[in-house]
Amino acid sequence: MLLATWKGGTDSWVWLGDSTRLFSVRSVKNLLVYSRDNSTNSVVKWCKWVPNTCNINIWRAELDKLPTQVALSRRNIQVPFRLCGLCDSEIEAVEHVLVGCSVALKVWDFVSSWCKFPPIFAFSVKDLLDLYSSSGLGVDKKVVFQGIVIIACWSIWKARNDRIFEGRVVKVEDIVGNIRSLDFLWYKY
Ligand SMILES: [Zn+2]
Repeated sequence: MLLATWKGGTDSWVWLGDSTRLFSVRSVKNLLVYSRDNSTNSVVKWCKWVPNTCNINIWRAELDKLPTQVALSRRNIQVPFRLCGLCDSEIEAVEHVLVGCSVALKVWDFVSSWCKFPPIFAFSVKDLLDLYSSSGLGVDKKVVFQGIVIIACWSIWKARNDRIFEGRVVKVEDIVGNIRSLDFLWYKY
């Protein structure tokens, strides 16, 4: 073990975050930027033929920024406790509402049969967003399918909000109706 020996002289502070050893705000900023690990961040691909509202919704969902009960409590926002706004039987996390909820499962059944797609198995929002890439569909059909998945997520979330804030009864037919009413947009794509 090498031990430094004090040999007298003046003591001083040295900034180790920069090769110049001089402290500066720029140096701190660079250190923070370069030390940030973005390797696990996924980027939601914007779907051009889909309304922005739906794209923004899926972007927020993928980042777990939708105000579910779980997300709100994680941010220490106090709201009266309740279960999933769609089924009233599970803890309301984004993966539940959009993926695993009994209501969502019926919607995904509809999407797979309507698009002549194999049964959809997903555990997360990212799984839903990755479906198109392993679908074996051609480029154009992939874009359409991806858009339908994004619209379906928006429609499920809308049904949840309509139930919580307006007291509307959740009907799978209405959610599916929303998806079908927007699918014509891809013709403009
Ligand atoms: Zn549910």
